[in-house]
Amino acid sequence: MEKNKKLGIIFYLSFPLLMFFLFSLFALASSERTYDLFPQYTLIFSIAFIVLFGLQFFALREKIMPRFTEVDTLQKALQNQEVGAKMLIRKDLELVRANEKLRELDAIKSNFISVAAHQLRTPLTAIKWTIDMILGGSLGPLTTEQRGFLMKGYESNERMIILVNDMLVADRAESDRMQYQFAPLQIVDLMDNVLYEVTTLANKKNVAIEVAPPSTPLPRVTVDAEKIRAVLQNLLENAVKYTPEGGKINVTTSATPESIRIAIKDTGIGIPEEQQKNIFSRFFRAPNAIKIQTDGSGLGLFITKSIVEKHGGKIWFESSLGQGTTFYFTLPLTN
Ligand code: ADP
Repeated sequence: MEKNKKLGIIFYLSFPLLMFFLFSLFALASSERTYDLFPQYTLIFSIAFIVLFGLQFFALREKIMPRFTEVDTLQKALQNQEVGAKMLIRKDLELVRANEKLRELDAIKSNFISVAAHQLRTPLTAIKWTIDMILGGSLGPLTTEQRGFLMKGYESNERMIILVNDMLVADRAESDRMQYQFAPLQIVDLMDNVLYEVTTLANKKNVAIEVAPPSTPLPRVTVDAEKIRAVLQNLLENAVKYTPEGGKINVTTSATPESIRIAIKDTGIGIPEEQQKNIFSRFFRAPNAIKIQTDGSGLGLFITKSIVEKHGGKIWFESSLGQGTTFYFTLPLTN
């Protein structure tokens, strides 16, 4: 039997017994017949009374005291909870403030990048035109050696201009200031156009590009043609850049009732598994890519993702190190 039940029985039985003894005591005390036995009865009943009273006290103490302890414990738990809740509110406020601070710093940083990039663009363009002029012979004939050095300077300057432009585009994409002009377009036409430019780069590296025609004609999609051109260009140029000589690139397009999907598969260096989660982050470049291609801003995929998502599409990839990478992106048919 449970302890509480036992105590209950003792308590409830002892109470009527106590009453019974008390009544008997008074009955005997008032009877003349037992008057001479009164002291013995008084003693017996007093002992019985003390025993029963003791039992009652024991039962009550066992039953009630734990309740007091329980109440006490609950009160303490409640107080602890209140303290905890206050602490949580304080931490929440601190986090909100820290978040605000981070946003402020981020805005300052974005502003700094934007101003710096704008300021850099003007002198870089001036350098470009000056070298262009010298190379064009406006300042007199050049020796082969002079021409070679100037060409190197010109190419480096061009890379700087591309980097600065990428920084400005990434900044615009991040702060949602990129302007979009949507119009219906046949993606295959745009793809042909981009492929024409990228093929020159691929040929130089002896990388073959194969384009599989879609099994059914693709519907037109409503997109910003210039932005989607940048997406295709970035993905195809990356495929060429990160595929060693003799490699192959396959381009496929397909359609579902909801969207069209473009897949660009290469047999290149692949993306290390532990770095795959960072691939769309600003300025991120995997070490294996840096090793074979020192040039690169790590901004292309960040911009690409932003553009695809702005169109309501998705972008993802599958990659295995040393085997190759496939980038996929979709563009919805209803926007
Ligand atoms: P960039 O090419 O200038 O480094 P991107 O943003 O276009 O910048 O690409 C970011 C990184 O993603 C690359 O540096 C490279 O590590 C990885 N990457 C992109 N495309 C591929 C690819 N086809 N194969 C292997 N790695 C790739």
